[in-house]
Amino acid sequence: MVRTRCCGWRSSGAGFGGIAAAVRLKQAGIAFTVFERSDDLGGVWNENTYPGVEVDNFAHWYSFSFRTYDWSRTHAGQQELKEYLNDTVDKFGVREHFRFGSAVERVEWTRTRSGTTCTSRTDRQNRSNS
Ligand SMILES: Cc1cc2nc3c(=O)[nH]c(=O)nc-3n(C[C@H](O)[C@H](O)[C@H](O)COP(=O)(O)OP(=O)(O)OC[C@H]3O[C@@H](n4cnc5c(N)ncnc54)[C@H](O)[C@@H]3O)c2cc1C
Repeated sequence: MVRTRCCGWRSSGAGFGGIAAAVRLKQAGIAFTVFERSDDLGGVWNENTYPGVEVDNFAHWYSFSFRTYDWSRTHAGQQELKEYLNDTVDKFGVREHFRFGSAVERVEWTRTRSGTTCTSRTDRQNRSNS
């Protein structure tokens, strides 16, 4: 268990939602950290790898507004979706803000100290969440 006092935004999850938040927070010049309990990004597209897994909607509807993409199929598969997310994280320079192997257990706003304390459980030894 690691307790960290942080300034700025924090978000949990490195799926579509967390990646979109990361890009927009960076563009807005706001300090942030994204905690992700697994060891890789992608969210559902990291977890679901069974044969034939793909989006239900047209892939071009399922793209970030800030990053259109020339999908190879109308309904993109898991591997291409995960590549898209990895490319997006690198293209927008936000990878360094992600803390993998860090499951958030509690986030506490402390008014007197004007900050928040984020408690996370690390899955790896010797990982620092400061
Ligand atoms: C096969 C399939 C097809 C789909 N097709 C569509 C579609 O066509 N259109 C559509 O709109 N949606 C579709 N979805 C739904 C999909 O879940 C969402 O579109 C979207 O990818 C969800 O993104 P997310 O970032 O909100 O959540 P997720 O992708 O679930 O990411 C959440 C992340 O948060 C992490 N996390 C959770 N709790 C913690 C914690 N306490 N601490 C740290 N990390 C944490 C998880 O490990 C995960 O990586 C589909 C889903 C599946 C599985």
